[in-house]
Amino acid sequence: MKTIQTDVLVCGGGCAGIAAALASARNGAKTLLIERAGFSGGIITAVGLPYFDGLIDKFTGRFVVKGIAQELLVALGAAKEGASHIDDCRKELISKYWSTVYIPNTEEFKLLSDALILKHSDNLSALYHSLAVDVDVKDGRILAVVIANKDGLTRVEAKQVIDCTGDADLAHWAGSPTEKMDPLMPMTMHFRIGNVTPHKEAAAAAKKALIDARERGELPEFYGPGLMYAFAKDEVYVHATRIPGDATSAADFTRAEMQGRKDAWTMFREWKAKVPGFEDSYFITSGPFLGVRETRRIVGEKVLSIDDLQKTNRYDDAIATGCWFLDIHPPKTSLDKPFEGSGFQPKPYDISYRMMLPQKLSNLLVAGRCHSASKEAAASSRVTVTAMALGEAAGCAAALATRAKTEVGLLSGVKVREQLATQNAGPFTDV
Ligand SMILES: Cc1cc2nc3c(=O)[nH]c(=O)nc-3n(C[C@H](O)[C@H](O)[C@H](O)COP(=O)(O)OP(=O)(O)OC[C@H]3O[C@@H](n4cnc5c(N)ncnc54)[C@H](O)[C@@H]3O)c2cc1C
Repeated sequence: MKTIQTDVLVCGGGCAGIAAALASARNGAKTLLIERAGFSGGIITAVGLPYFDGLIDKFTGRFVVKGIAQELLVALGAAKEGASHIDDCRKELISKYWSTVYIPNTEEFKLLSDALILKHSDNLSALYHSLAVDVDVKDGRILAVVIANKDGLTRVEAKQVIDCTGDADLAHWAGSPTEKMDPLMPMTMHFRIGNVTPHKEAAAAAKKALIDARERGELPEFYGPGLMYAFAKDEVYVHATRIPGDATSAADFTRAEMQGRKDAWTMFREWKAKVPGFEDSYFITSGPFLGVRETRRIVGEKVLSIDDLQKTNRYDDAIATGCWFLDIHPPKTSLDKPFEGSGFQPKPYDISYRMMLPQKLSNLLVAGRCHSASKEAAASSRVTVTAMALGEAAGCAAALATRAKTEVGLLSGVKVREQLATQNAGPFTDV
């Protein structure tokens, strides 16, 4: 089998992975990013989600994450250079109600991440269309990750590995404890409908059409309708499909992908036939991937708990800040609000370095939605910007460990925090 050697391997180029790869390369480590899609961005580009949740403290309006997330927002024209408050974002891209901001075009995110990867080509390279499929582990170390792509199988031997797969694939295959909740939050197929004329009766009529379709047995579960005019005045962006299932099972993920597509088309056809303003509309696109909210999470050296959010517990080795509310989507139909439970809104809280450290492995970090957190806490810490902050911290840590000729599992999170602070990143809980 062919072999590639590198200092740091980042698996998964989504919200966490792109930040991890950039941070690792910028901190001097030879870095390889692998991603199963033909582009980076994960949920943003593979599902089509523009929201940068987890950025803004609802109580004060200030940014609790800066660093790479802030840099991306500025580069995409959604915020001013040096932005640190909701008022520094472009007015038409702000949702004051949700205390969040969104980017104007998710396709452009592909181009931006390509450009950033190429800009760091001295020590950062990427392999798209490449899937991590196995790990070779010895004495608590990942010796190599096996990847599959058009070259066949390749062993990637890295000093440090960062698992940003969203599903904790590497940690799980390497035998580190992970957990998966029952029930899992549902998956969602996002889709877009063009040539819609906004109409004041549209939301109510769209909701009724979905209820009727469900009663006829043509639509299993849904939320909403949640019609959003995020990208253009005549274009509806929809996240109303709800598909229960487990994306870590290939068969179930395939079934869910087909169901998501079918439900999206059922919704579109119902609306075109029955909703005022949709008469001349057309189906623009869905996916290209079904969106996965929750699968495995590591049970790491420390677990982010609901107590951490409620009491805003402080950690010396905090490397990121979370601030989103408890956003738990139920795997069943809900009409009036997308989430269930209290929807508790925490003040900005610390996320410790140890919440990215899996048990039993010395050279692996796990960043993004599969970091170590209880189900409730993860309902807050799973969102896009928090994932970017964790990825940036993991990339920085992997480079520091490589430079110090040690491993991420032996590195002090306090040192990672100090390094992040020199780069306008890390926790912003106490500013
Ligand atoms: C339908 C839906 C709606 C959401 N809405 C919002 C919202 O409005 N706001 C918000 O902030 N958050 C939202 N989220 C949460 C959002 O998904 C997470 O914040 C974010 O995706 C977590 O980032 P991540 O990097 O962990 O995962 P992802 O962004 O999903 O990235 C994981 C990446 O790893 C790649 N990958 C997976 N396995 C492998 C492998 N074995 N080998 C190589 N590559 C691999 C994938 O292709 C993907 O690019 C939503 C999630 C879903 C599913």
